[in-house]
Amino acid sequence: MSNSVEVTLPPIGDFEQVDVIEVLVSSGDHIEAEASIITLESDKATMEIPSPFAGTVTELMVKVGDKISQRGLIMTMEPDEGASVQEPPEPSAVPVSEAVKSPTDVSAEVVVLGGGPGGYTAAFRAADLGKRVVLIERYQQLGGVCLNVGCIPSKALLHTAEIINETAEMERMGVKFARPEIDLEQMRAGKERVVKRLTQGLVGLAKQRNVQVIQGTGKFESPNRIGVVGPEGKISVAFDHAIVACGSSPVKIPGFPNEDPRLMDSTDALALEEIPKKMLVVGGGIIGLEMATVYHALGSEIDIVELQDQIIPGCDKDLVRVLQKQIAKRYNRILLSTSVSDIMAGKDGLKVSFEGKNAPDEALVYDKVLVSVGRSPNGRFIGAEPAGIHVDKRGFIPVDEHMRTNVPNIYAIGDVVGNPMLAHKATHEAKVAAEIIAGQPALFDPLTIPSVAYTDPEVAWMGLTESEAKAQGVAYEKGAFPWAASGRALAIGKEEGLTKLLFDPETKRILGAGIVGANAGELIGEAVLALEMGADAEDIGLTIHPHPTLNETICFAAEMAEGSITDLIPPRKRK
Ligand SMILES: Cc1cc2nc3c(=O)[nH]c(=O)nc-3n(C[C@H](O)[C@H](O)[C@H](O)COP(=O)(O)OP(=O)(O)OC[C@H]3O[C@@H](n4cnc5c(N)ncnc54)[C@H](O)[C@@H]3O)c2cc1C
Repeated sequence: MSNSVEVTLPPIGDFEQVDVIEVLVSSGDHIEAEASIITLESDKATMEIPSPFAGTVTELMVKVGDKISQRGLIMTMEPDEGASVQEPPEPSAVPVSEAVKSPTDVSAEVVVLGGGPGGYTAAFRAADLGKRVVLIERYQQLGGVCLNVGCIPSKALLHTAEIINETAEMERMGVKFARPEIDLEQMRAGKERVVKRLTQGLVGLAKQRNVQVIQGTGKFESPNRIGVVGPEGKISVAFDHAIVACGSSPVKIPGFPNEDPRLMDSTDALALEEIPKKMLVVGGGIIGLEMATVYHALGSEIDIVELQDQIIPGCDKDLVRVLQKQIAKRYNRILLSTSVSDIMAGKDGLKVSFEGKNAPDEALVYDKVLVSVGRSPNGRFIGAEPAGIHVDKRGFIPVDEHMRTNVPNIYAIGDVVGNPMLAHKATHEAKVAAEIIAGQPALFDPLTIPSVAYTDPEVAWMGLTESEAKAQGVAYEKGAFPWAASGRALAIGKEEGLTKLLFDPETKRILGAGIVGANAGELIGEAVLALEMGADAEDIGLTIHPHPTLNETICFAAEMAEGSITDLIPPRKRK
């Protein structure tokens, strides 16, 4: 004879006909007293309903999508022998997090602070692993810097620049295009359409996973609570685990006229307000050079000033040389080993003084100046102190290989935990944090994080660079293949490129790779996989690559190292 007892919805306050968004048990399950059985969501709050006693579920009366009110029947259960069958506790007894007491009081198993590529990836992965997740983002759009003012809009504009440059180059093949007419408004709208499609896609993905998105600026109040101030006032979010993904901001140089709209950061430059006649880019790193590519294609006269003795510091000189040779033909000045000492806002433009090896004798006047000298982490702006999170002097939050901060239930990922500040680092770190919280084994321990400058030509590298190998005294063998010997590169007019691979002289395993040329950013992925898989020169050389392609140059570079190349004279025989 069955001893089944009806389990009904306990008093949950001023809520009627609340949505069932999750059913956490199935018929036949044995569950402990106070284990969560269903999750409810009203327009004001989300709450888990606990089991009133230990026992076995005999029949479920609700499913996801149903609505339920106080005293509504959830299921029947056969209590364990000796179990105390009494009125279920109020939801405030939910063990995983604090109870929802008012619309301004929300609880989550995992709260993610920041909705960039790190934050939304962490939130989605945690939700997919069964966690109840709240995602806090200060702006209306999800997607962070990458989707809104970084990777994606810059690539939409760079694609336009590429088409402009390519059509101009087609004259060599007998096709002459008229000078392009630029409709800046349409161009901005096109870029915005791409951004909107992606950011709105994120809203849908969050909804499908029941990730609750709260708009507002979040600050920690304790190791288990974040206060969020946004358009709906103040909301307090209680959490079991937090993942900080608050990203970074452009560095501003004190003393420059930073309030003058003619002095831009990358966000201003991407807004594409106008096409300046003369533009100075301060900083010859990846972001500055990408924006220079865009504005030059649109008609601006470009000067670049870089403190170091090469553009893209950190990248091998032989790769950078190829890019430098191309842009030296297009840009007005590339001032290396030089810095800006002063910028004065004048009526006719920004008057810039320089100092250093290649400083012009006189100050120069520009219509716009883009300052692109790096990004600084946002760790100091999240109220880290009440939670006890350690933030270093620069604003980074140190983490271990599980992405855990010094506070055991708080994790951090993305730009705020350190360099390189790249979206693909953030997303991989995000998954590690979410998986560790969900009790899965995970580790952030990549052999390399590839870097790409989406310039014209592109520059990409991964693993050990040649300059690092020399500085560290690491023995290596090099296989380098000039694109002038690639049929495909010649066919598309991109013969200036170079692909080089570095190998361990003993094991012949790949150590690093660098590519400069069209689509280098796409090509480098193969080298990253080769490194992660421990491939050697023979593996790469014997892998049949399609012909004629640019990715063949990776195979040819391995053959150069092996001495088996036939498309060129093998290096050893040259002696
Ligand atoms: C012009 C440009 C081009 C780039 N191009 C590339 C590229 O091609 N490839 C690449 O890999 N990387 C690129 N990057 C870098 C890339 O955008 C970042 O590495 C990436 O966005 C970092 O992700 P994140 O999640 O750590 O932080 P972010 O994307 O910075 O996101 C952090 C989010 O947290 C929010 N936030 C911060 N503090 C709070 C708070 N207290 N409360 C609520 N919300 C908060 C912010 O509003 C933001 O939305 C580019 C960057 C720029 C500027």
